[in-house]
Amino acid sequence: MRLTGKTALVTGGSRGIGRAICLELARQGASVAVNYSGSAGAAEQTVQACRAVGAQAFALQADVASSAACQAMLQAVLERFGRLDILVCNAGVARDELMLRLREEDFDTVINTNLKGAFLCMKAACRPMVKQRCGRIVAVSSVVGLRGNPGQTNYAASKAGLIGLGKSLAKELASRNVTVNLVAPGLIDTDMTAALPEVARAALLASIPMGRMGAAEDVARAVAFLASDEAAYITGQVLCVDGGMAV
Ligand code: NAD
Repeated sequence: MRLTGKTALVTGGSRGIGRAICLELARQGASVAVNYSGSAGAAEQTVQACRAVGAQAFALQADVASSAACQAMLQAVLERFGRLDILVCNAGVARDELMLRLREEDFDTVINTNLKGAFLCMKAACRPMVKQRCGRIVAVSSVVGLRGNPGQTNYAASKAGLIGLGKSLAKELASRNVTVNLVAPGLIDTDMTAALPEVARAALLASIPMGRMGAAEDVARAVAFLASDEAAYITGQVLCVDGGMAV
């Protein structure tokens, strides 16, 4: 229960890695705001699962690519919880295609959600965290942001950009006791990877020294650690959760 008394906002918390993060933070004692953009029903399931382990939780609809929506979301969290200790920028999309066929709108969608969306949430969270003189920001990047991947130029650019964004913000906020770190998952078993063509999944699996996909809970535990007091002196880091893929 190392997050007892903390409040958290997790973007894209209705399913997959985001849901596992909400649950792990709740299990460790945090009150959790579950952001979603699509299905209210799925977000409500996450909320119920958090409440089932004794945590306060509520769902918040917002498209992270919208500045107004992100500001309203932060306001709603502050009204409900009174403060924000932990922001997890998890919401993300993929629109995979080889460069020659990649449409400009698919480039924009991925950058606007994965990179600009995180920027907007971080910007909205900065002010209360700086005021509190404490805070934890964790963003979900990807091993693809470190290594690149054919067919994922847009996704890799968004995830590499997120690392630059996070490291720079870590330097800006360090003196205010706000840490900013990133996790970089490898191949995790979620709806996103279920949509991969079999040949692409097999190639990725072959590059994992541990020889298997990770679970959403593997990522969630790393996020919970970076959000905890135990990680108070860690900032600007990228923690790979990838079975050795990026080594
Ligand atoms: P997922 O598709 O299951 O979940 C993505 C979540 O983001 C969904 O809840 C979706 O509704 C939400 N989302 C998408 N666009 C949004 C928007 N505009 N506003 C608010 N929410 C939005 O995928 P996942 O595998 O759980 O991925 C979670 C994060 O982890 C993503 O950032 C993804 O890029 C990253 N990641 C996943 C893997 C993997 O192998 N699954 C590997 C590396 C990184």
